[in-house]
Amino acid sequence: MSTPLKCRSCGSEDLKEVIDLGQQPLANNLLRTQDLSQDEPKFPLDVWVCQQCWLMQISHIIPPVKLFSEYVYFSSFSDQMLAHARQAVGRYVEEFGLGKDSFVVEVASNDGYLLKNFVGASIPCLGFEPASNIAQVARKNGVETRGEFFGRDSASALADERGGADLILGNNVFAHAPEPNDFVGGLAALLKPGGRIVLEFPYGVEMIEKVEFDTIYHEHVFYFTLLPLLPLFQRHGLEIYHVEHLPIHGGSLRIFAARSGVEDVRDSVRELSARESELGVNSPSYYERFSEHAAKVKADLIAFLKEQRSLGKEVAAYGASAKGSTLLNYVGSPAADLKFMADRSTYKHGLHSPGLHIEIVPAEELAQRKPDYAILLVWNFAQEVMKQQSEYSSQGGKFVIPLPRLQVV
Ligand SMILES: [Zn+2]
Repeated sequence: MSTPLKCRSCGSEDLKEVIDLGQQPLANNLLRTQDLSQDEPKFPLDVWVCQQCWLMQISHIIPPVKLFSEYVYFSSFSDQMLAHARQAVGRYVEEFGLGKDSFVVEVASNDGYLLKNFVGASIPCLGFEPASNIAQVARKNGVETRGEFFGRDSASALADERGGADLILGNNVFAHAPEPNDFVGGLAALLKPGGRIVLEFPYGVEMIEKVEFDTIYHEHVFYFTLLPLLPLFQRHGLEIYHVEHLPIHGGSLRIFAARSGVEDVRDSVRELSARESELGVNSPSYYERFSEHAAKVKADLIAFLKEQRSLGKEVAAYGASAKGSTLLNYVGSPAADLKFMADRSTYKHGLHSPGLHIEIVPAEELAQRKPDYAILLVWNFAQEVMKQQSEYSSQGGKFVIPLPRLQVV
Protein backbone atom coordinates (compact mmCIF):
# COMPACT_ATOMS: atom_id res chain seq x y z
CA MET A 1 0.00 0.00 0.00
CA SER A 2 1.43 3.38 -0.92
CA THR A 3 1.36 6.24 1.49
CA PRO A 4 2.15 9.95 1.29
CA LEU A 5 3.76 9.51 4.71
CA LYS A 6 7.20 10.82 5.51
CA CYS A 7 9.07 9.75 8.61
CA ARG A 8 8.66 12.58 11.11
CA SER A 9 12.22 12.10 12.34
CA CYS A 10 14.49 11.34 9.36
CA GLY A 11 12.23 12.37 6.45
CA SER A 12 12.40 9.01 4.65
CA GLU A 13 9.37 7.98 2.57
CA ASP A 14 10.10 4.28 3.01
CA LEU A 15 7.46 3.35 5.58
CA LYS A 16 5.72 0.02 6.21
CA GLU A 17 2.34 -0.48 7.89
CA VAL A 18 2.49 -2.21 11.29
CA ILE A 19 -1.19 -2.19 12.29
CA ASP A 20 -4.50 -0.63 11.24
CA LEU A 21 -7.00 -0.17 14.09
CA GLY A 22 -9.68 1.35 11.88
CA GLN A 23 -11.56 4.61 12.34
CA GLN A 24 -11.41 5.62 15.98
CA PRO A 25 -12.74 8.53 18.07
CA LEU A 26 -10.29 10.51 20.22
CA ALA A 27 -9.57 8.17 23.11
CA ASN A 28 -9.72 10.78 25.88
CA ASN A 29 -12.73 12.63 24.51
CA LEU A 30 -15.35 11.58 27.06
CA LEU A 31 -18.86 12.73 26.24
CA ARG A 32 -21.56 14.43 28.29
CA THR A 33 -25.11 13.08 28.03
CA GLN A 34 -26.19 16.13 26.01
CA ASP A 35 -23.39 15.48 23.45
CA LEU A 36 -24.42 11.91 22.68
CA SER A 37 -26.80 12.80 19.87
CA GLN A 38 -24.15 14.86 18.06
CA ASP A 39 -21.80 13.56 15.40
CA GLU A 40 -18.62 12.26 16.98
CA PRO A 41 -15.52 12.77 14.83
CA LYS A 42 -13.49 9.65 14.04
CA PHE A 43 -10.06 9.44 12.48
CA PRO A 44 -7.92 6.65 10.99
CA LEU A 45 -5.69 5.03 13.62
CA ASP A 46 -2.75 3.14 12.16
CA VAL A 47 0.94 2.71 12.97
CA TRP A 48 3.76 2.61 10.43
CA VAL A 49 7.47 1.94 10.84
CA CYS A 50 10.19 3.89 9.00
CA GLN A 51 12.50 1.45 7.22
CA GLN A 52 15.40 3.90 7.37
CA CYS A 53 15.54 4.81 11.09
CA TRP A 54 12.93 2.29 12.42
CA LEU A 55 10.78 4.82 14.21
CA MET A 56 7.17 3.64 14.70
CA GLN A 57 4.63 6.41 14.15
CA ILE A 58 0.94 6.95 13.45
CA SER A 59 -0.09 8.35 10.09
CA HIS A 60 -2.98 10.60 11.04
CA ILE A 61 -1.97 13.42 13.35
CA ILE A 62 -4.60 15.39 15.27
CA PRO A 63 -3.50 18.97 16.02
CA PRO A 64 -2.33 19.06 19.67
CA VAL A 65 -4.48 22.10 20.42
CA LYS A 66 -7.58 19.99 19.84
CA LEU A 67 -6.23 17.20 22.02
CA PHE A 68 -4.73 18.95 24.99
CA SER A 69 -6.38 22.31 25.74
CA GLU A 70 -8.66 20.67 28.33
CA TYR A 71 -7.47 17.36 29.61
CA VAL A 72 -9.05 15.03 32.13
CA TYR A 73 -6.01 13.00 33.11
CA PHE A 74 -4.77 14.35 36.43
CA SER A 75 -1.52 12.63 37.40
CA SER A 76 -2.16 13.00 41.13
CA PHE A 77 -5.00 10.49 40.89
CA SER A 78 -2.65 7.49 40.85
CA ASP A 79 -0.76 6.53 44.01
CA GLN A 80 1.75 4.64 41.92
CA MET A 81 2.58 7.72 39.81
CA LEU A 82 3.09 9.93 42.88
CA ALA A 83 5.50 7.49 44.51
CA HIS A 84 7.39 7.06 41.23
CA ALA A 85 7.81 10.86 40.89
CA ARG A 86 8.97 11.37 44.47
CA GLN A 87 11.63 8.67 44.20
CA ALA A 88 12.91 9.96 40.86
CA VAL A 89 13.26 13.54 42.15
CA GLY A 90 15.25 12.44 45.22
CA ARG A 91 17.62 10.55 43.00
CA TYR A 92 18.17 13.37 40.46
CA VAL A 93 18.86 15.96 43.19
CA GLU A 94 21.65 13.75 44.49
CA GLU A 95 23.01 12.41 41.20
CA PHE A 96 23.14 15.79 39.43
CA GLY A 97 24.05 17.84 42.53
CA LEU A 98 21.01 20.13 42.25
CA GLY A 99 20.52 23.02 44.68
CA LYS A 100 19.12 26.53 45.09
CA ASP A 101 21.21 27.86 42.17
CA SER A 102 19.99 25.17 39.77
CA PHE A 103 17.11 25.43 37.34
CA VAL A 104 14.85 22.45 36.59
CA VAL A 105 12.29 22.42 33.78
CA GLU A 106 9.62 19.80 33.26
CA VAL A 107 7.79 19.39 29.96
CA ALA A 108 4.10 18.49 30.35
CA SER A 109 4.24 19.11 34.08
CA ASN A 110 0.56 18.28 34.54
CA ASP A 111 -0.83 19.41 37.92
CA GLY A 112 2.67 19.87 39.36
CA TYR A 113 2.73 16.43 41.00
CA LEU A 114 6.43 16.01 40.22
CA LEU A 115 7.76 19.58 40.37
CA LYS A 116 6.22 20.19 43.79
CA ASN A 117 8.97 17.90 45.12
CA PHE A 118 11.57 20.39 43.79
CA VAL A 119 9.56 23.33 45.20
CA GLY A 120 9.64 21.55 48.57
CA ALA A 121 13.43 21.25 48.33
CA SER A 122 13.81 24.99 47.40
CA ILE A 123 15.20 24.16 43.95
CA PRO A 124 14.02 26.67 41.29
CA CYS A 125 11.80 24.98 38.73
CA LEU A 126 9.21 25.64 36.05
CA GLY A 127 6.76 23.52 34.09
CA PHE A 128 5.29 23.64 30.59
CA GLU A 129 1.64 22.56 30.61
CA PRO A 130 -0.65 23.55 27.73
CA ALA A 131 -3.88 22.14 29.25
CA SER A 132 -5.22 25.30 30.86
CA ASN A 133 -7.42 23.64 33.49
CA ILE A 134 -4.50 21.53 34.69
CA ALA A 135 -1.94 24.36 34.57
CA GLN A 136 -4.23 26.32 36.88
CA VAL A 137 -4.23 23.52 39.45
CA ALA A 138 -0.41 23.43 39.29
CA ARG A 139 -0.15 27.18 39.93
CA LYS A 140 -2.46 26.83 42.91
CA ASN A 141 -0.07 24.17 44.19
CA GLY A 142 2.76 26.74 44.00
CA VAL A 143 4.39 25.39 40.83
CA GLU A 144 5.34 28.04 38.25
CA THR A 145 3.73 26.89 35.01
CA ARG A 146 3.73 28.15 31.41
CA GLY A 147 0.62 27.35 29.41
CA GLU A 148 2.56 26.62 26.23
CA PHE A 149 3.60 23.67 24.13
CA PHE A 150 7.29 22.84 24.36
CA GLY A 151 9.40 23.25 21.24
CA ARG A 152 12.30 25.26 19.82
CA ASP A 153 10.49 28.62 20.06
CA SER A 154 9.15 28.33 23.60
CA ALA A 155 12.40 26.71 24.84
CA SER A 156 14.62 29.42 23.30
CA ALA A 157 12.41 32.17 24.75
CA LEU A 158 12.73 30.64 28.21
CA ALA A 159 16.52 30.22 27.84
CA ASP A 160 16.81 33.93 26.87
CA GLU A 161 14.78 35.03 29.87
CA ARG A 162 16.04 32.74 32.58
CA GLY A 163 19.24 31.13 31.36
CA GLY A 164 19.60 27.46 30.54
CA ALA A 165 18.33 24.49 32.50
CA ASP A 166 20.51 22.13 34.56
CA LEU A 167 17.90 19.42 34.23
CA ILE A 168 15.03 18.98 31.77
CA LEU A 169 12.49 16.27 32.55
CA GLY A 170 9.73 14.83 30.39
CA ASN A 171 7.54 11.94 31.53
CA ASN A 172 5.14 10.55 28.97
CA VAL A 173 5.24 13.58 26.70
CA PHE A 174 7.99 12.85 24.13
CA ALA A 175 5.82 10.30 22.30
CA HIS A 176 2.96 12.83 22.13
CA ALA A 177 4.94 15.66 20.47
CA PRO A 178 4.21 15.48 16.73
CA GLU A 179 7.49 17.08 15.59
CA PRO A 180 10.38 15.18 17.19
CA ASN A 181 13.02 17.44 15.65
CA ASP A 182 11.29 20.49 17.11
CA PHE A 183 11.01 18.79 20.51
CA VAL A 184 14.62 17.56 20.68
CA GLY A 185 15.78 20.88 19.15
CA GLY A 186 13.96 22.60 22.03
CA LEU A 187 15.78 20.42 24.55
CA ALA A 188 19.11 21.40 22.94
CA ALA A 189 18.18 25.10 22.97
CA LEU A 190 17.27 25.14 26.65
CA LEU A 191 19.98 22.87 28.08
CA LYS A 192 23.02 24.41 29.87
CA PRO A 193 26.33 23.10 28.44
CA GLY A 194 26.73 20.67 31.36
CA GLY A 195 23.01 19.99 31.85
CA ARG A 196 21.13 16.69 31.72
CA ILE A 197 17.91 15.52 30.09
CA VAL A 198 15.80 12.64 31.42
CA LEU A 199 12.80 11.38 29.43
CA GLU A 200 10.42 8.52 30.14
CA PHE A 201 8.09 6.94 27.62
CA PRO A 202 6.39 3.59 26.95
CA TYR A 203 8.79 1.15 25.30
CA GLY A 204 7.88 0.08 21.77
CA VAL A 205 9.54 -3.33 22.17
CA GLU A 206 7.19 -4.14 25.07
CA MET A 207 4.22 -3.04 22.98
CA ILE A 208 5.16 -5.44 20.19
CA GLU A 209 6.20 -8.35 22.41
CA LYS A 210 3.20 -8.13 24.77
CA VAL A 211 0.61 -7.27 22.09
CA GLU A 212 -0.19 -3.99 23.89
CA PHE A 213 -1.90 -2.54 20.82
CA ASP A 214 -4.34 -0.69 23.08
CA THR A 215 -1.53 1.73 24.01
CA ILE A 216 -2.02 3.11 20.48
CA TYR A 217 -4.20 6.21 20.25
CA HIS A 218 -4.05 9.51 18.41
CA GLU A 219 -2.24 11.31 21.23
CA HIS A 220 0.62 8.82 21.02
CA VAL A 221 2.27 9.79 17.78
CA PHE A 222 5.37 7.62 18.38
CA TYR A 223 6.15 4.14 19.77
CA PHE A 224 9.82 4.44 20.64
CA THR A 225 12.53 1.86 20.64
CA LEU A 226 16.10 2.97 21.42
CA LEU A 227 17.70 2.55 17.98
CA PRO A 228 15.81 5.35 16.14
CA LEU A 229 16.43 7.78 19.00
CA LEU A 230 20.23 7.68 18.75
CA PRO A 231 20.41 9.53 15.37
CA LEU A 232 17.53 11.85 16.36
CA PHE A 233 19.47 13.16 19.36
CA GLN A 234 22.77 13.27 17.45
CA ARG A 235 21.16 15.50 14.84
CA HIS A 236 20.72 18.13 17.57
CA GLY A 237 24.16 17.84 19.17
CA LEU A 238 22.88 15.63 21.98
CA GLU A 239 23.81 12.12 23.05
CA ILE A 240 21.90 9.44 24.92
CA TYR A 241 24.46 8.21 27.46
CA HIS A 242 22.38 5.94 29.69
CA VAL A 243 19.10 4.03 29.52
CA GLU A 244 16.98 2.22 32.11
CA HIS A 245 14.07 -0.13 31.70
CA LEU A 246 11.10 0.56 34.03
CA PRO A 247 8.09 -1.66 34.78
CA ILE A 248 5.47 1.18 34.79
CA HIS A 249 2.79 1.48 32.09
CA GLY A 250 3.45 -2.05 30.84
CA GLY A 251 7.14 -1.30 30.32
CA SER A 252 8.86 2.07 29.82
CA LEU A 253 12.29 3.40 28.97
CA ARG A 254 14.02 6.18 30.88
CA ILE A 255 16.77 7.77 28.79
CA PHE A 256 19.50 10.14 30.01
CA ALA A 257 21.04 12.60 27.55
CA ALA A 258 23.57 15.45 27.57
CA ARG A 259 25.44 17.46 24.98
CA SER A 260 27.61 15.17 22.85
CA GLY A 261 30.89 14.39 24.58
CA VAL A 262 29.87 15.59 28.06
CA GLU A 263 29.34 12.07 29.42
CA ASP A 264 30.88 8.74 28.51
CA VAL A 265 28.26 6.56 26.87
CA ARG A 266 27.54 3.73 29.30
CA ASP A 267 27.22 -0.01 28.68
CA SER A 268 23.43 0.23 29.19
CA VAL A 269 23.11 2.01 25.82
CA ARG A 270 25.36 -0.46 23.98
CA GLU A 271 23.63 -3.45 25.57
CA LEU A 272 20.09 -2.33 24.75
CA SER A 273 21.08 -1.37 21.20
CA ALA A 274 22.59 -4.83 20.74
CA ARG A 275 19.50 -6.50 22.19
CA GLU A 276 17.21 -4.56 19.86
CA SER A 277 19.35 -5.52 16.87
CA GLU A 278 19.19 -9.16 17.97
CA LEU A 279 15.39 -8.98 18.25
CA GLY A 280 15.27 -7.47 14.78
CA VAL A 281 13.86 -4.04 15.63
CA ASN A 282 15.77 -2.79 12.57
CA SER A 283 14.20 -5.29 10.16
CA PRO A 284 10.70 -5.42 8.64
CA SER A 285 9.92 -8.97 9.77
CA TYR A 286 9.90 -7.89 13.44
CA TYR A 287 6.65 -5.96 12.87
CA GLU A 288 4.82 -8.54 10.76
CA ARG A 289 2.96 -10.66 13.34
CA PHE A 290 1.78 -7.83 15.61
CA SER A 291 -1.38 -7.13 13.63
CA GLU A 292 -2.34 -10.84 13.61
CA HIS A 293 -1.83 -11.05 17.38
CA ALA A 294 -4.09 -8.05 17.90
CA ALA A 295 -6.77 -9.59 15.66
CA LYS A 296 -6.66 -12.73 17.82
CA VAL A 297 -7.25 -10.66 21.00
CA LYS A 298 -10.23 -9.05 19.28
CA ALA A 299 -11.71 -12.37 18.10
CA ASP A 300 -11.34 -13.91 21.56
CA LEU A 301 -13.01 -10.97 23.25
CA ILE A 302 -15.92 -11.02 20.79
CA ALA A 303 -16.38 -14.77 21.34
CA PHE A 304 -16.35 -14.23 25.11
CA LEU A 305 -18.92 -11.41 24.96
CA LYS A 306 -21.23 -13.43 22.69
CA GLU A 307 -20.99 -16.49 24.89
CA GLN A 308 -21.81 -14.53 28.06
CA ARG A 309 -24.73 -12.88 26.34
CA SER A 310 -26.16 -16.23 25.28
CA LEU A 311 -25.80 -17.44 28.87
CA GLY A 312 -27.64 -14.37 30.16
CA LYS A 313 -24.58 -13.11 32.07
CA GLU A 314 -23.80 -9.43 32.66
CA VAL A 315 -20.47 -7.97 31.63
CA ALA A 316 -19.16 -4.50 32.62
CA ALA A 317 -15.73 -2.89 32.43
CA TYR A 318 -13.30 -1.29 34.83
CA GLY A 319 -11.17 1.76 33.92
CA ALA A 320 -12.42 4.48 31.57
CA SER A 321 -8.94 4.80 30.08
CA ALA A 322 -7.63 5.77 26.66
CA LYS A 323 -6.41 2.16 26.37
CA GLY A 324 -9.94 0.96 26.95
CA SER A 325 -11.24 3.25 24.23
CA THR A 326 -8.82 1.86 21.63
CA LEU A 327 -9.52 -1.74 22.59
CA LEU A 328 -13.32 -1.44 22.70
CA ASN A 329 -13.61 0.60 19.51
CA TYR A 330 -11.39 -1.96 17.76
CA VAL A 331 -13.69 -4.73 19.03
CA GLY A 332 -16.64 -2.66 17.81
CA SER A 333 -20.37 -3.25 18.29
CA PRO A 334 -20.17 -6.50 20.33
CA ALA A 335 -18.60 -4.36 23.10
CA ALA A 336 -21.59 -1.98 23.13
CA ASP A 337 -23.37 -4.52 25.39
CA LEU A 338 -21.14 -3.63 28.33
CA LYS A 339 -23.43 -2.48 31.15
CA PHE A 340 -21.22 0.31 32.47
CA MET A 341 -17.62 1.33 33.03
CA ALA A 342 -16.46 1.82 36.63
CA ASP A 343 -13.70 4.33 37.32
CA ARG A 344 -12.12 5.97 40.36
CA SER A 345 -11.70 9.45 38.87
CA THR A 346 -14.58 11.70 39.96
CA TYR A 347 -14.06 13.89 36.86
CA LYS A 348 -15.26 11.08 34.63
CA HIS A 349 -18.45 10.08 36.47
CA GLY A 350 -21.64 10.65 34.51
CA LEU A 351 -19.69 10.96 31.24
CA HIS A 352 -19.73 8.39 28.42
CA SER A 353 -16.91 6.51 26.71
CA PRO A 354 -15.82 7.62 23.21
CA GLY A 355 -17.39 5.72 20.32
CA LEU A 356 -19.50 3.17 22.18
CA HIS A 357 -20.98 5.67 24.69
CA ILE A 358 -20.83 3.40 27.73
CA GLU A 359 -21.73 5.21 30.93
CA ILE A 360 -18.92 5.85 33.44
CA VAL A 361 -19.86 5.30 37.08
CA PRO A 362 -18.01 5.46 40.45
CA ALA A 363 -15.73 2.50 41.20
CA GLU A 364 -17.90 1.41 44.16
CA GLU A 365 -20.78 0.57 41.83
CA LEU A 366 -18.91 -2.50 40.67
CA ALA A 367 -19.47 -4.20 44.04
CA GLN A 368 -23.02 -2.78 44.30
CA ARG A 369 -24.27 -3.77 40.85
CA LYS A 370 -22.29 -7.05 40.74
CA PRO A 371 -21.98 -7.82 37.04
CA ASP A 372 -20.76 -11.40 36.48
CA TYR A 373 -17.61 -10.15 34.76
CA ALA A 374 -15.64 -6.90 34.61
CA ILE A 375 -13.21 -6.41 31.74
CA LEU A 376 -10.09 -4.82 33.18
CA LEU A 377 -9.20 -2.08 30.73
CA VAL A 378 -6.39 -0.69 32.89
CA TRP A 379 -4.27 -3.85 33.02
CA ASN A 380 -1.23 -1.68 33.83
CA PHE A 381 -2.79 -1.10 37.26
CA ALA A 382 -4.22 -4.64 37.60
CA GLN A 383 -2.81 -5.40 41.07
CA GLU A 384 -3.86 -1.99 42.46
CA VAL A 385 -7.41 -2.32 41.06
CA MET A 386 -7.99 -5.91 42.16
CA LYS A 387 -6.89 -5.01 45.69
CA GLN A 388 -9.24 -2.00 45.78
CA GLN A 389 -12.07 -4.11 44.38
CA SER A 390 -11.69 -7.13 46.66
CA GLU A 391 -15.34 -6.75 47.73
CA TYR A 392 -16.50 -7.34 44.16
CA SER A 393 -14.30 -10.44 43.84
CA SER A 394 -15.35 -11.82 47.22
CA GLN A 395 -18.98 -11.69 46.04
CA GLY A 396 -18.08 -13.90 43.09
CA GLY A 397 -17.37 -11.17 40.51
CA LYS A 398 -14.63 -12.04 38.05
CA PHE A 399 -12.13 -9.83 36.26
CA VAL A 400 -11.28 -10.43 32.63
CA ILE A 401 -7.81 -9.40 31.47
CA PRO A 402 -8.12 -9.05 27.69
CA LEU A 403 -4.47 -9.17 26.61
CA PRO A 404 -1.94 -10.46 25.65
CA ARG A 405 -4.37 -13.44 25.86
CA LEU A 406 -7.88 -13.39 27.33
CA GLN A 407 -7.75 -14.52 30.93
CA VAL A 408 -10.48 -14.74 33.60
CA VAL A 409 -9.18 -14.14 37.15
ZN1 LIG B 1 12.88 7.59 9.81
